[in-house]
Amino acid sequence: MTSRSLLRLALAGAVATGSVLLAAVPADAGKAPKTVPVRLLALNDFHGNLEPPGGSSGRMVDESGATVDAGGAAFVATHMKAHADKNTIAVAQGDLIGATPLVSAAYHDEPSVEFMGKIGLKVAAVGNHEFDEGYTELRRIMKGGCHPVDGCSPAGKWKGAAFDYVGANVLFKNPNEKTDALAALGTSGQVKKLLADWGVPALPPVSVKWMNGVPIGFIGLVTRTTPNIVTAEGIKNLKFADEVKAANVASKLLKLLGVKAQVVLVHEGDQVTAGQSPDACSAVPGAGNRIATQVDSEIDVVLSGHSHQAYLCTVKDPAGQNRLYSQGGSFGRVITQVDLQVNVKTRDVDRSSVVADNHVVTRTVTPDPEISAFVQTWKDRVAPVANKPVGTISADLTNTATPSGESPLGNLIADGQLAATTTGGNAQIALMNPGGIRNSLNYAGSPAGEGDGVVTYGEAFAVQPFNNLMQVVTLTGAQLKTVLEQQFTGGPNNQAFTKILQPSANLTYTYSRSAAWGAKVSDIRIDGTPVTDTQSIRVAANNFLVGGGDAFLAFTEGTDVWSGPLDIDAFVEHLARNNPIAPPATNRITVVD
Ligand SMILES: [Zn+2]
Repeated sequence: MTSRSLLRLALAGAVATGSVLLAAVPADAGKAPKTVPVRLLALNDFHGNLEPPGGSSGRMVDESGATVDAGGAAFVATHMKAHADKNTIAVAQGDLIGATPLVSAAYHDEPSVEFMGKIGLKVAAVGNHEFDEGYTELRRIMKGGCHPVDGCSPAGKWKGAAFDYVGANVLFKNPNEKTDALAALGTSGQVKKLLADWGVPALPPVSVKWMNGVPIGFIGLVTRTTPNIVTAEGIKNLKFADEVKAANVASKLLKLLGVKAQVVLVHEGDQVTAGQSPDACSAVPGAGNRIATQVDSEIDVVLSGHSHQAYLCTVKDPAGQNRLYSQGGSFGRVITQVDLQVNVKTRDVDRSSVVADNHVVTRTVTPDPEISAFVQTWKDRVAPVANKPVGTISADLTNTATPSGESPLGNLIADGQLAATTTGGNAQIALMNPGGIRNSLNYAGSPAGEGDGVVTYGEAFAVQPFNNLMQVVTLTGAQLKTVLEQQFTGGPNNQAFTKILQPSANLTYTYSRSAAWGAKVSDIRIDGTPVTDTQSIRVAANNFLVGGGDAFLAFTEGTDVWSGPLDIDAFVEHLARNNPIAPPATNRITVVD
């Protein structure tokens, strides 16, 4: 790096943080403090929860072991203010948007991104859900402009995110693609050379923020499994590189820029043992731990996301030093505070100084009045749509899996999808991915609790928030059998967890828990008639599954694709036509040992 670009970086920092830089470095360097404090406040997997989330999504085990109500933008704001000091940089680990409630989703999540700016967020890693509406839409969210189809929101022209989105492992497939992802870094010869060997970044890999006269480098990473869990069309020009390799390139890049205090913001994480304090390290080592332990020893802190769990762990980096590895739950229920000291001479983090604390975003504090008003404005705007009754349920319809893997709500959604695709698409059966069912329908109503079984559009939308298209493809009986085998781990499609597709009522089959992969599924019947390997079957599913999402690769062999209504419209129509509707039985799949 040339001294001129270093100077430019330093000046950029001075401008960005106002007088802080000048105030923190006294003229007499001999009396300068040896270290300066930096505080990080981190959020992950907010998923547009501007209103306090309901049900189990709005509860959290606190440090004392008690289960308390948590989350909601106005409470997040109050807690952020309470924990922020003059040394604070607010950061996030992805999935701030996507799979969001209607109040955010109806406006392409602009309200949630604006909220993040209002609470002072400076840098966020992209999560897989930042790609839900595709790369082009993510760029609009980052840079501003009105939606190409729906136009401007009631708030006017979108100004763009007030924070930097970073994603070091998000690359263009085409090596000749033009990129603007490095504009903020300057492109010295060394930077160019480093990246020439690596690939063409589709997003800024890093963001540098100055605090108390020292630069802090933030490296963004998103789970490399993103192509399996995001609709293929929107990311067709992108590849998602190994997180560790990408972090190490980004770490070298930061070093070239003279930045040695390095923080990874990674949208990947681990599962935990249930019921633990958010400050416990109960994470079961998995994909997140691999990244936290293997990335370059120059990286001081690894803040994670994606698994919606809360944990604070100390892991060893490759050089054997302690490194923080944490996550802050989801839906704005936890804020992770990290305090650390940076040596002003070496500009590196004193690892022994790193202290972390997960704060539960309780609702016993006064909600921030400005944010309360902001959320109310958007609630008022969306109310005519959200509060419209679309049907009635006679009892709770849960998305909790029964032992067969079916849920009452999942089966009902599959029935609705079949009903919506029989005419036009000639669908014979429907299959719904369980991960796409994001909420239950409660008889008591949620979160208002009106208690009359009425389902509003807003409640239905909270169940099916992706705006996926219904499609129908022709599969052979053998391909359908393969799809059903691909529900289970152990196959060549690399299914990470067993994911039981929710079947329409006329599709029945048996699976064996103990049989080997490929021989688990038997006795597949449609309307009671056994399916043969060679028969053609018109299968309805959303475009995520038809594109091979959730590692259901056999779907991509389907032919004669027909596209129909949005999945939310199919669901709402089904509720309207069968009013009131009762929870369907969960007897479509038979399980044997
Ligand atoms: Zn995620």
